[in-house]
Formats: sequence, C-alpha cells, structure tokens
Amino acid sequence: MIGIVGAGQLGRMMALAGYPLGLDFLFLDKDTSTPGGQLAPILAGDLTDRRLLGQLSERCEVVTFDWENVPVDALEGLPGKARISPPTRALAAAQDRLAEKRTFELLGIPTTRYASIDSRESLEAAVRLIGLPGVLKTRRLGYDGKGQFVLRKPADLDAAWAALGTAPLLYENLVPFDAEISIIAVRGLDGDIAFYPLNLNVHRDGILRLTRAPYGNVALARQAHRAARKLLEHFKYVGVLTIEFFVKRGKLIANEMAPRVHNSGHWTIEGAVTSQFENHVRAIAGLPLGSTAPRGHSAMINLIGELPAREPLLAEAGLHFHDYGKSPRPGRKLGHVTICEATAQKRDKRAFKALARVDRATWLALR
Ligand code: AMP
Repeated sequence: MIGIVGAGQLGRMMALAGYPLGLDFLFLDKDTSTPGGQLAPILAGDLTDRRLLGQLSERCEVVTFDWENVPVDALEGLPGKARISPPTRALAAAQDRLAEKRTFELLGIPTTRYASIDSRESLEAAVRLIGLPGVLKTRRLGYDGKGQFVLRKPADLDAAWAALGTAPLLYENLVPFDAEISIIAVRGLDGDIAFYPLNLNVHRDGILRLTRAPYGNVALARQAHRAARKLLEHFKYVGVLTIEFFVKRGKLIANEMAPRVHNSGHWTIEGAVTSQFENHVRAIAGLPLGSTAPRGHSAMINLIGELPAREPLLAEAGLHFHDYGKSPRPGRKLGHVTICEATAQKRDKRAFKALARVDRATWLALR
C-alpha cells in the first residue's frame, strides 16, 4: 500500500498510474470530494495532523506526497515503519526558498542572486546590492506565483513591503530569460536515475499554461542532467524530482525545485513510454524504472478556472482530455489536454489551435 499526503490531481494521477501495476493507495486529505478521494480510500483530516500521518505510516509500506509542504517535524518519528519518499531532507529544502538557494549554491548549480530578508532595512540593503528589477518572494508556501512581488523602481519598495512584509522573505534579481524550462528526473530505490526530455514552459500570471516537449539541444540537456543528478545524489532521493530553470543565452539558471511529480510533466501520460506518475510510484515501491523516451512531440495545455466543453475537443483525433473532478474557481487548475504529434511543427500547429479555444489570453500573448 502506498500512502499519499494530499489528494489533489497529482495524487489522483499517481493512483491512476499505479493501479495497473497492482499497487494500492490510501490518501490523507480533507474529504472524499478531493480528486484523489474520488478514486481511492482516504483518511479525512488536516494534512499536517500527526495522528493521521501516523495511521498512514502504519498502514502503508511507503508514504509520498502530492503536497510537499507538510512540516518536516510532523513527519519525524511517526509510529509506523513506512519509508518516506522523497526523503524529508529534500522536502525541507524545497519548502524554504532560502534553504533551496543554499542547496543549489552548495552543489554548484547556477541560480539567481538572492538575499534573505527579515526587515525593511534588509530589503533596502538587498535592493542596493542586487539591484532592480527584482522579485520579493515569501520563503514558504508560495506557489503558482502567489506570495511574490516584482520591484521595478525604488518607489515599489513600500508597496512590496506592505504586501509581504509580515513573512520571512527572499529577494532575488528578475531574470530577463529567453525561455523557462523544466527537467523531470527520477531515481529508483536502487539508485538508478532516468531523465525525461526537457520541457518548454509558458507561464501567465505565475501559473503554468502551456508545456511543450521535447525541447532544446544536447548542451541544455547536459546542464539540466548535471543539476538533477547532483540533487538526486545529494539527497539519496527516491522518486520524481522536478527542477525549473530560466534559460538565458544558452545557460541554465535554477529557479526552484519540486520534490514531486510536476504539472510540466503531465504530457508524459500519453507522450512518453512511461509517465512521470508511473515512474514515481515504481521508484518509491522499489520497482525497476520504465523508459522515459518520448513517443513524439507533445503539448500540454492547462484548463484553468473553468472547463471547456469536452465534445469539440474530443472530436479532434488524438487529443487527450483530463478532468480532475474539481469544482470551478478562478485560477484553479481543473484539468489539462495533451496532444502528441510526429513533428514539432505539427504539434505546434495543433497546440496553438487548441490554445486559442481554451486559453485565449495565453494564445494572444504568444502570437
Ligand atoms: P516561482 O513560484 O518562483 O516558480 O515563480 C513563478 C513564475 O514567476 C516563474 O515561472 C517565472 O515566470 C516568474 N519568476 C519568478 N521568479 C523570477 C525571477 N527571479 N526572474 C524572472 N521571472 C521570475
């Protein structure tokens, strides 16, 4: 039995990938209406509830995460004997942007220039040192661009401090990137490592909108592999790890890492020989990893805020539609569609046609 903390769409897709392998799942999240709870048994309660985490650890051989922000001390010394994968050291580094930057630095992974901010004075000093434009970010619990403030001129300091000043923060330079990419890597229980091809990602308002893969050339892939391998080995990692990078003049600058399966890897369900979800559950269950080879050129478009009508999309040959079973809300990820084609040109043509239909604002921004 595999325990999953968090029953969102990532957990749901892990379970969907693991059932054919004969694996069983038990979730921890608030109730059965969650995407994972619609599919598998669930312990209902708070994701940080130590009693429920203890039950999960007693009933399962391994505990993994769809939400990686469970405080690490809530996971330490649980009564059961379940392995925790990915390891809590990797969770701790990913939960705190300062620890994350320090880990990148320690391992020689190029990242942004940054400073830890704990007072208005330290922000002023950081802006003097690092310069403008820059981004002020909460160290913890930021996602999809939440908890961030871009500073372009000295006068923005007041508004940035008023917006975020109560939490521990990090200031970093705003990178004028040529592209945003990510790598999804996986390490098995036996130390075997595999990489998916690079993903080219488009964000709007801090939220991922479009991913296309494979992307880039051998030189970019080599940089991404080097960074991923260092992190995987440093943490003696088991499972899927994602790193997001900015690309600037052919060089990678690490933005952040996610100790889990990732939105930019959803295309692998239909577009790779083994999906990121299957490889994650294979890794944590101690099974051999599957091939990460792409089946063609894929595009994944997120369905955000409201779901478009299924029928016209499904009428398109080869288009795959995923509905996470969530209720609509502005900015909420409700599903995605994937297209896989024989060439990048064909993939792009179809992806932009689908984008025009389901996410016009991103389509207009990319035209
Ligand atoms: P994050 O939550 O840190 O991944 O930020 C969300 C998105 O904001 C990123 O994917 C970028 O598009 C943008 N962003 C964040 N930090 C920076 C930065 N230092 N320079 C440029 N863009 C950034």
